[in-house]
Amino acid sequence: MSRIAALSFDLDDTLWELGQVIRRAEQALHDYLQRYHPAVAERYDIEAMAELRRKLADERPGIAHDMTALRIETLRRAAKSCGESEELALPAFHVFLKARNRVRLFPETRPVLERLALRWPLLALTNGNADIQRVGLGSYFRHAISPAEAGAAKPDAAMFALACEQAGVEPAGLMHIGDDPLTDVTGAVRFGLRAIWLNRDDTPWPEGLPQVPHQQVRSLTELQALLMD
Ligand SMILES: [Mg+2]
Repeated sequence: MSRIAALSFDLDDTLWELGQVIRRAEQALHDYLQRYHPAVAERYDIEAMAELRRKLADERPGIAHDMTALRIETLRRAAKSCGESEELALPAFHVFLKARNRVRLFPETRPVLERLALRWPLLALTNGNADIQRVGLGSYFRHAISPAEAGAAKPDAAMFALACEQAGVEPAGLMHIGDDPLTDVTGAVRFGLRAIWLNRDDTPWPEGLPQVPHQQVRSLTELQALLMD
């Protein structure tokens, strides 16, 4: 096995739990709309806004991979359909984004990243719109790669290719760690990376997804033990 030259990390549900964060951020956005643009809030509750976003993602595959563009466009569309100015979209999105970046790290996240960053360059590869600077982890990461920048989301090869390019490593030298069997593990392995599946709940590998070679850990602490061995 060739030497590990760099590590790349998924963010959501790998370094913190996502579910609560999104619920709180969507609530913060809804509260904001209720206060400043009540007609939009009235017509689009959180579920209706999510429905509009899904519809838009189907209609506009060109932006479907870019959660920031998609959420802004959704707000524009919602505003327009209520006869309000589309310009409300950007400030409203920033209300969402602020709450979106207020994450509660897993207790092990910071100490493990700190240790690993001493030995390898770390990269962040997220399909979402979390920002490692804003969540307070910026100092551990050398690069952060987004689907907007790569032109496609994981499991597409584009993000892994860009990661290798930015880190200056061959695919075989990059080890990717993430919680999602398809976007993280399968995507990475298909591009020639090595992958570690962070499987906190010890769930079986999903049926129908090709078995690809990977290692598995239940926590970041276990990851550290495996890599520093
Ligand atoms: Mg994830």
